[in-house]
Amino acid sequence: MDVNDDAPGLMRNVPSRQKLQSLRWIYDLARICADGMSDEHSNCPKSTENPAPLRLIDLSSGGDTLRLMKKQGMVLKYAALSYCWGSCKASGTRKSNLAERMLAFELSSLPQTLQDSIVIARKLEVPGWKMMDYYANAYLTIVPVSCDSAEQSCLGQQRWVTDQLSGLWVGKPERLLHFNHPVWELVSKEVDKSAWAKRAWAFQERQLSARIVFFGRNGIRFECREGAFDKYNCNESSPIKPDIFLPVPNTPSPEWDALWKIRAKWYNMVSDYVERQLAFESDRLIALSGVVQKFEILFHGKDEYMSGFWKNDLCQGLCWDFSTGFKRLPGEDALFQSCFADSLSLVKSQLFPSWSWCCMRRPVEWDDVAGSIPSAQLLEAIKPLNGADFAIQGKAVKLVLEAWMFPADILDRTLSEDLEVSVRLDARDKPTINPRTLAKYSAIPLLVGLYGADEAQWRASRTTILHKVYGLIIQKANSQHGGNEEYERMGMFKVLSSRH
Ligand SMILES: [Zn+2]
Repeated sequence: MDVNDDAPGLMRNVPSRQKLQSLRWIYDLARICADGMSDEHSNCPKSTENPAPLRLIDLSSGGDTLRLMKKQGMVLKYAALSYCWGSCKASGTRKSNLAERMLAFELSSLPQTLQDSIVIARKLEVPGWKMMDYYANAYLTIVPVSCDSAEQSCLGQQRWVTDQLSGLWVGKPERLLHFNHPVWELVSKEVDKSAWAKRAWAFQERQLSARIVFFGRNGIRFECREGAFDKYNCNESSPIKPDIFLPVPNTPSPEWDALWKIRAKWYNMVSDYVERQLAFESDRLIALSGVVQKFEILFHGKDEYMSGFWKNDLCQGLCWDFSTGFKRLPGEDALFQSCFADSLSLVKSQLFPSWSWCCMRRPVEWDDVAGSIPSAQLLEAIKPLNGADFAIQGKAVKLVLEAWMFPADILDRTLSEDLEVSVRLDARDKPTINPRTLAKYSAIPLLVGLYGADEAQWRASRTTILHKVYGLIIQKANSQHGGNEEYERMGMFKVLSSRH
């Protein structure tokens, strides 16, 4: 395929000359970013720091015959591919065809997206590429964002639409005119709406990459820690700094220089991650494990990861929020129901413990709880009996907490004129919970805002008026652990003072 090949017809799905010519632009940007050719990219990882993954496709032959090579640990330049396999029927590299692929295989035997990516990698003079992991160490990551299946081409894709217009022709009756024209869209918008962006696995592939090139229908976008650069035909846009990459270890960054900032980033990331789609729900925590490893470094190894939570910040972690339930505004007498319910089906996944945000298939969020202190203590976290890795298996994990517990219907009484109370439920598959049946449930506060009140006095008597309380609504699970009742999470509550 030659850069100068022109598209023989606009409607044909062939590599566009502009896209192939734009590869020179990416080549220059990648060299400035990765090869230390500019002081401006000081936050970007350099290509000399890259140990290779287990196997790579060797692209050095330049021909149509390729092979897999063992390169583990060698320092070399390679590209990664982050894409949607989608409905593609072709077979990937498996144990059964591995030996064969180590010898030789034809470029044409690969799905179209992979073939295009090899063309791109060769133009960028990247000698090998790998499509699965090791995004952080890759020279760059290629994202064919216009493809929602591996059978599609990212170099030719142009989406056409037909518009109709009624027109009056001299001497003839009114008739409809049909116009075919390509859809024009910013690459950044295309990325946001893409099937790729909805994949859970793509989340960490994006966060961990050194730099990314998005191939859209109308243009190309290059993103690194220093900026996002767009190119449409001959037009280049001015760079904007993206806020999506995790920082490179040991590179000081003002956005990551305090514990509260790192924790806030974690909660923001999980909020974005939790609604993404997985082929296997059991991969929920596994598809995040690369990001977790980076956070362990960012916390300097001083916090312990526990199935989607950080031990030192467990009380906030458990207070994930979901907008359905009932509420009482200051001055009102009782909670009223369903003020923020919506029409979506809300059933918690049974694969994960009820207290885990992994149960939810919809966005969850965490409030800014600055000024609050934890009011519960973790005594023990019980790992799965089968010895599964605690860090990545959320199943059957139980928490033993020491916490203050009270009947949940206390929340339905006017404690004080200026308090706003929200009871928010995780699921709709338990229809019995409503303001009148709250007495059957219990509540445990996990975070309290004392705002200058004496903490020791509060812990001793708990009579101080609180201005902010976050906690869980729980119910008995009809099982016991060590002689104590077990409970499951039903939802969470918030008590907020209008004075703050
Ligand atoms: Zn850069």
